[in-house]
Amino acid sequence: MQTGDFLDKEIETLDLEALQSLQLERLKTTVRKASTSPFYAKRFRELGLRPEDIQSLSDVEHLPFTTKDDLRGEAYPYGFLTVPGENLVRLHASSGTTGRPTVIFHTKKDIRSWAHLVARCMYMAGVRKDDVFQNMMGYGLFTGGLGFHYGAELLETLIIPAGPGSSKRQIRLMQDFGTTVIHIIPSYALYLLKVMAELGINPRDDLSLRVAFLGAEPHTEGVRRRIEEAYGVDAFNSYGLSEMNGPGVALECPYKNGLHIWEDSYLVEIIDPVTLKPVPDGTEGELVLTSLNRDAMCLLRYRTKDITRLLPGRCPCGRTHRRIDRITGRTDDMIILKGVNIFPLQVEMVLMSIPEVGNNYQIVLETHNGIDTMRVQVEVDSEHFSEDIRYLEKLQKKIASELRGEILITPQVDLVEPNSLPRSDGKAIRVVDKRTVTVG
Ligand code: AMP
Ligand code: ZN
Repeated sequence: MQTGDFLDKEIETLDLEALQSLQLERLKTTVRKASTSPFYAKRFRELGLRPEDIQSLSDVEHLPFTTKDDLRGEAYPYGFLTVPGENLVRLHASSGTTGRPTVIFHTKKDIRSWAHLVARCMYMAGVRKDDVFQNMMGYGLFTGGLGFHYGAELLETLIIPAGPGSSKRQIRLMQDFGTTVIHIIPSYALYLLKVMAELGINPRDDLSLRVAFLGAEPHTEGVRRRIEEAYGVDAFNSYGLSEMNGPGVALECPYKNGLHIWEDSYLVEIIDPVTLKPVPDGTEGELVLTSLNRDAMCLLRYRTKDITRLLPGRCPCGRTHRRIDRITGRTDDMIILKGVNIFPLQVEMVLMSIPEVGNNYQIVLETHNGIDTMRVQVEVDSEHFSEDIRYLEKLQKKIASELRGEILITPQVDLVEPNSLPRSDGKAIRVVDKRTVTVG
């Protein structure tokens, strides 16, 4: 384990007092800058708030929250800018498929700082100059591709800017250039295994992979384990969102006991999404982030809708930046069915612990005779697939009963052939809601 090795040792191991003093200095600057944007100028006026009112880190609670709707609302697209338009060099957008996207602008310095954070992450996972990095995330408005690209370039790693999809070509690139590091959406990593199997390639033996960055979508420990075992890699959970640059917000260190969130660049709060009050450390809630080191757009108390908690204690790796737990879902992903709250990842957790279950699933919500129901379509693992009806019925019952143990209702389980469910090159669509009247 390369734990003694840091890209930014001084920053990554700052003691608490020094880290907080850096945060406060940056918070004050950020609030001052934000107050010059039309959006926050108006908010501050309405709240009777002045930038000088922020004198300590706990004063952050006087600042207004910012939501996705704010970014898409009246202030769209330029109302958050704190620099003249001529200073902008790039924009990115969130990967939402409905309505207006949220658009984030960057100055040259913003891009440089972001690349640095990604480089810090990659270095933490052991990526070095002599690696060959295949970036299988979308290049374009989505931040996954270009975000990691610029980070890897800072490390002077050879980059294969493959982008997503074209599975056979991806495998060919890995073979031809001896790819050692990949950045990939976890659901796509599971799918790619099928294509490799068809080509008679066993990634553990036939490829040179050693590190995988898994990001962009919620996934369980079970999915990570499947990917690590099948590919023979060390897989790191990479968290980010376009509103806070993109990837490079938080990543696991080699201890994989939570994701270090770079507190020199992000001020972290965990709140109760209903009362909007902070929850005690260690308690789950909604992650709220304030960017501390950006120029073009300074977002204050951005409500990510992602659910996690701050983990207690220090990490043995020596980094002092706190760790967040694996994201367990989004507040807007929660399914309310028959009065029960269910997160799609609870379903995934159960499915991935059953060896007969393959690598893809989908949750379908429907209304029958006025009653809402849940159907879980589950691919059977190719090695366990059989035409034997009795075997399939038994498996179906087992899955339904294990799901009931976790989500408290018994869904209908449909077993389907391996690799028969729809898949996308981007984030997986885990829930299809066909209910006529949806709740939640
Ligand atoms: P976008 O701004 O389109 O890149 O989407 C960002 C969102 O993707 C986050 O707010 C999360 O909901 C999700 N996301 C990104 N990385 C992860 C991760 N490692 N685990 C769980 N969710 C993630
Ligand atoms: Zn650590």
